[in-house]
Amino acid sequence: MKQYKELTKQERATELLACMKKFEEYKAVGLKLDMSRGKPGEEQLDLSNDMLGSLPGYMSPGGVDCRNYGGLEGISEVKDIFAQILELRPEEIIVGGNSSLSLIYDNAAANMLHGAGGGVPWSKQGEIKFLCPVPGYDRHFSICEYLGIDMIPVPMMPDGPDMDIVEKLVASDPLIKGILCVPIFSNPDGCVYSDKTVLRFASMPTAANDFRIYWDNAYCIHQYEGPRVVIPNIVRECEKAGYPHRPYVFASFSKVSFSGAGMAAMASSASNCEHIRKRISMQTIGPDKLNHLRHYYFFKNAQGVYSHMEKIADILRPKFKAVLDTLENGLCGLGIGRWNKPRGGYFISFDAPDGCAKRVVSLCKEAGVVMTGAGATFPYGKDPRDSNIRIAPTYPATDQMTTAMEVFCVAVRIAALEAMG
Ligand code: PLP
Repeated sequence: MKQYKELTKQERATELLACMKKFEEYKAVGLKLDMSRGKPGEEQLDLSNDMLGSLPGYMSPGGVDCRNYGGLEGISEVKDIFAQILELRPEEIIVGGNSSLSLIYDNAAANMLHGAGGGVPWSKQGEIKFLCPVPGYDRHFSICEYLGIDMIPVPMMPDGPDMDIVEKLVASDPLIKGILCVPIFSNPDGCVYSDKTVLRFASMPTAANDFRIYWDNAYCIHQYEGPRVVIPNIVRECEKAGYPHRPYVFASFSKVSFSGAGMAAMASSASNCEHIRKRISMQTIGPDKLNHLRHYYFFKNAQGVYSHMEKIADILRPKFKAVLDTLENGLCGLGIGRWNKPRGGYFISFDAPDGCAKRVVSLCKEAGVVMTGAGATFPYGKDPRDSNIRIAPTYPATDQMTTAMEVFCVAVRIAALEAMG
């Protein structure tokens, strides 16, 4: 078929009728499919079920009684695993509970209240702002909104945020205190920051001397295509550039073992970690070390984690392929959508024609397919072009995914035709 813009008005009307007919057929099936969140599917969770059996003991190999209080930074065995994965030193790592998002939240909240690294509390300095690469992760935006941090969107490029804009903004405004980054397989674009982007982040002058990079490395080992992606180490690069306290690195096992019962870690300079330890000691008398131990016995070391990730990749690859193939079959050549083909991560980012995203999501819902809300990938839920839709292929089974994406393609066609009039 020709591009929609090349069709006559009459041809478009005929095409709209055909699409509506198809849409009604899908509606009649009574589908109930959820592609709204990046949740692991059951098959993926099942891979870690052996962790549910009883532990061989409660003492860690290093001699810690994991039943008891204490061990604020996590047991050394799992610190070692995170250190290997993040290519950092164990003393730079703090392993906490199950959620990296809660570490990010706590960290930002503490900096608002008490200042970063012992500086003046951010909230006492004025209207605090964060740069937010867009499209981005909705829960990052929710944290900022909840804490009263103003969000400044920065467009994502194929190799990371537009660094010309980032550098200009951080150099000129001392109230810009942070940026939220997902450097490997970004949510939702699946972009990998280039070496140059990382080095620019590490070395850029900032007007705020308490500026921080929230380096949310949620998908650093979540790859299902191609040779393993490695980018420069932000902690080491910031050190080299003379800004050792700039980065906070976050990662978790939420999409490695169990989303509700993984382990999360953060890493930063020795002095930042010292401040963070003091804060954590006000919040807790220690993390769930038995869960740490469970993870240690199951994975043993980073190699154990990588082997497990290969099994996960085998499950995810066909799911992503199903989405991409269906988009290709349903929309290719029509000129009514652009989408990325990531090599890892959890999402496919789709750009519908301007003004169509809300309509597409609402049509999908009518036909029983729940997508992430339009606008969710932008601060305050406002996509200025009403164009971006995040597709989350990990949860439904592959055959269901194909059906869901067929519905999605018909919805895009209808929305685009309606918009063209
Ligand atoms: N960071 C990013 C970029 C995510 O996409 C997600 C989940 O989708 C999280 C963090 C949540 O991580 P956790 O489960 O460790 O809180």
